[in-house]
Amino acid sequence: MAGTHPCLSCGACCAAFRVDFSVYESQEHGGRVPLGLIEPVTEFTCRLRGTDYARPRCAALTGTVGQQVACGIYEWRPSPCREFAAGSDACNRVRRQHGLALLA
Ligand code: SF4
Ligand code: SF4
Repeated sequence: MAGTHPCLSCGACCAAFRVDFSVYESQEHGGRVPLGLIEPVTEFTCRLRGTDYARPRCAALTGTVGQQVACGIYEWRPSPCREFAAGSDACNRVRRQHGLALLA
């Protein structure tokens, strides 16, 4: 559909990387990332559940990668997700891995 954001039919980065962030972004420590989606890593770091599996896929991702996806915690997603830029080299690398066309 014309004008639709490319991420809505992608989701490759949510099924490619280990996503770690500060514990202070978690609900438990005054942040907004829901506890049910978090795995502890160290005293100061935690991880989005599912992103360290052999075939990574964030537990918050719904839909089918490369077709139609949504982030179940979009408003509360952690900083690595907010900072990941569509059309960046890393974005296009994972799009290629998932057999998707590169973004300009
Ligand atoms: S890989 Fe790129 S286009 Fe795909 S969802 Fe992530 S940022 Fe968006
Ligand atoms: S929290 Fe949302 S944006 Fe971040 S990896 Fe999971 S599904 Fe993707």
